[in-house]
Amino acid sequence: MKSGLNFLSEELARLKKENLYVTMPVLSSQQSSRVIVNGKNVISLASNNYLGFANNPRLSNAAKQAIDKWGFGTGAVRMISGTMDIHLEMEQALAKFKHAEDVLVFVAGIAANRGTIQAMMGEGDVIISDELNHGSIIDGVRLTKSERKIFPHKNTAELEKVLKESQSFRRRLIVTDGVFSMDGDIAPLPEITRLAEEYDSIVMVDDAHGDGVLGKHGRGTVDHFNLHGKVDIEMGTMSKAFGCLGGYIAGRKELKDYLTQTARTFLFTTGHPPAVCAAIIEALKMVQEGGHVENLWKNTRYFKKGLQNLGFNTGNSETPITPVIVGDSGLALKLGDDLFSQGVFVKPIVYPLVAKDKARVRTIVTAIHTQDDLDTCLNAFEKSGKKLGII
Ligand SMILES: *Cc1c(COP(=O)(O)O)cnc(C)c1O
Repeated sequence: MKSGLNFLSEELARLKKENLYVTMPVLSSQQSSRVIVNGKNVISLASNNYLGFANNPRLSNAAKQAIDKWGFGTGAVRMISGTMDIHLEMEQALAKFKHAEDVLVFVAGIAANRGTIQAMMGEGDVIISDELNHGSIIDGVRLTKSERKIFPHKNTAELEKVLKESQSFRRRLIVTDGVFSMDGDIAPLPEITRLAEEYDSIVMVDDAHGDGVLGKHGRGTVDHFNLHGKVDIEMGTMSKAFGCLGGYIAGRKELKDYLTQTARTFLFTTGHPPAVCAAIIEALKMVQEGGHVENLWKNTRYFKKGLQNLGFNTGNSETPITPVIVGDSGLALKLGDDLFSQGVFVKPIVYPLVAKDKARVRTIVTAIHTQDDLDTCLNAFEKSGKKLGII
């Protein structure tokens, strides 16, 4: 049959032929350290559920109580009639947590990045971005009429060169991930903020993988380096370590005020169901009670050391994101399959997410994995690694 959609089957066939077609694993259990994936019981090293909050009963109970009080949906975009007092309570709790003047919440981290970069930057401006920044930052940059300049990963000498060449632009924005999602390394924020001061630039940090992980009680990358007040725009997400859903921008009151008026991904979309706000408030309470971030790091150190002792290449990771780099993409897919057959669930990461010769499986331990879970995973890695000739 003739149809304008015939290109879909051609495109899908091309993706499959080029090994770029990915199938979506399906959980028939709660998200946790042990899950049922595609019908199989496995230990998961494949989530961003760093603190294990995603199925924590305290979050579920907070959400249930909120449903009883506020109902389920909000029925309007926030600027029209969809803002409830619990939205403001959530934003205040986040601001307090981040030691920021104020916070604006977006429906997701991707919306926070897109909307904020688009609202802040325009014609005559320049955006200077680390080459390994997250796709949602790249999207935000593409939505502007600004000039774009990419600097090599974490290379502050090159960043300085770019800044020197960029002094004639109206505004300069340096944007970087705080923790890089594929390698688990940390941005050189002390040097970046120093350069930003010297070359009169705005700094924006995406802390999707820093929140709940780095700094006191998981306050993030800025707190980790004790750079409060030096980063103009802190973006983060409640979808990862906090086990909920949503993105936010933390900074000055004026920043929130301006974004509330101008960020299209805030203005033209409906806000969080109150149940999600209540869960976020509870998650922030829990993380600040202590213990969770410490458990995450205890498990991270144990597991990373275990992989390194076995002889795996874990790259430059400094955080719970620990890649096991094998090089060839076919080998990464095989390692993922072999581990899965042994009851360990990891995510193979291949081109174009990483360079063609840097294929890997990515592991992320959580605060709720037991020592027994981690030992089981390490044994499986040893068996698969030997069988496939990786170690
Ligand atoms: C996951 C992620 C986001 C998007 O956050 P969501 O809340 O899932 O939309 C943005 N930036 C980085 C670096 C991420 O890893």
